[in-house]
Amino acid sequence: MKNFDRSIEAYQQAVELMPGGVNSPVRAFNSVNMDPIFMERGKGSKIYDIDGQEYIDYVLSWGPLILGHADDRVVEALKKTTELGTSFGTPTQIENKLAQLVIERVPSMEMLRMVNSGTEATMSALRAARGYTGRDKILKFEGNYHGHGDSLLIKAGSGVATLGLPDSPGVPESIAQNTITVPYNDLESVQYVFSKYGKDLAAVIIEPVSGNMGVVPPEENFLQELRKLTQDNGTVLIFDEVMTGFRVGYHCAQGHFEVTPDMTCLGKVIGGGLPVGAYGGKREIMERVAPVGDIYQAGTLSGNPLAMTAGFETLSAMTRSEYEKLNKKVDRLVEGFQEAAAEYDIPFTVNRAGSMVGFFFNREHVTDFETANQSDLDLFARYYRGMIEEGIFLPPSQFEGMFLSAAHSDEDIEATIDAARKVFSKLAR
Ligand code: PLP
Repeated sequence: MKNFDRSIEAYQQAVELMPGGVNSPVRAFNSVNMDPIFMERGKGSKIYDIDGQEYIDYVLSWGPLILGHADDRVVEALKKTTELGTSFGTPTQIENKLAQLVIERVPSMEMLRMVNSGTEATMSALRAARGYTGRDKILKFEGNYHGHGDSLLIKAGSGVATLGLPDSPGVPESIAQNTITVPYNDLESVQYVFSKYGKDLAAVIIEPVSGNMGVVPPEENFLQELRKLTQDNGTVLIFDEVMTGFRVGYHCAQGHFEVTPDMTCLGKVIGGGLPVGAYGGKREIMERVAPVGDIYQAGTLSGNPLAMTAGFETLSAMTRSEYEKLNKKVDRLVEGFQEAAAEYDIPFTVNRAGSMVGFFFNREHVTDFETANQSDLDLFARYYRGMIEEGIFLPPSQFEGMFLSAAHSDEDIEATIDAARKVFSKLAR
């Protein structure tokens, strides 16, 4: 049995200091009925908790660490950059280097602006889209998460295409009313919204592979149809690639599905584990952003040298062949889990895009928020706790995808499949 004495002690202290003892809600482990595990260090595919126990990590700081923990190249570069000074509030050359790499690899990116988080990226992209079109309304999809900006913390009421209701106290209804929400992968609802509000819609924002209701890829032609509808109506199509960017593949999800949006939001991998976001796209839109244009957006630490360095080293290391190798490891992991689940007749379905994987305890195919919600959450929680005992660290929620890194070895994958088989055998009893 694992021993969490030190984690429990740290958590007792933390709850007095921070709401729920955490600085981001999902870290509280609420949906798996556990207290948070406090981590001390990580190297490669492994992390170590403050009670000295080792885990193979499939959270990877919620996606950014595509090279694994404390990659030598990233650490060395960070040491050098730190010695030169951590922030100047002036332009630096490393900003050019990372921006250039991103622009080369992301088809829609003609110009970009660095920010400090995914939330900032989506908020700023929306402001740019609204300023550029002179329209207020936006369309988003149920179960898609775009950070915690007011306009985006919105869920529609029941029924198709209702005007938004705030998801959280503190989001004014007047703001929510400009956000229209429809089910993911539901083209008919999108067409209906365009028929009613097409010329009022500033933007459609979408996760091109949804990663915040588990992993849910777009159905055939869904992104292509969104592209056509937005083009016909003068609406800005924004791909929120904060999670999928440089995760689904070398050219992000937009390269993978061959659909080019007008704007793209990035985060996670482009910061290599440091706080970064970016938004960008068509030059015509981005040249409306201050100081060239009149749409205001700024940041004291935006383009911070440490964050730019970690991002540059990470992207530079992720060559096309690294993505191919990574995908092969994911193939094996998925195959192993499917075989183990079938062996013990566990209700189980898998969605996957590149190295983003969503295992659902569900006999049905998951295509949207409603089908994702039909998963067996109690079974997931038991599976989760079983895997922790086996030394496998997974995202503590059925509605979060798991990630693999270039540092995960074939042995790690086989050990994880063996652990799943053991846990499934217990769940089947
Ligand atoms: N967009 C997507 C698709 C995300 O997955 C997230 C975070 O998980 C965000 C935006 C918000 O990013 P951040 O947590 O860096 O603010």
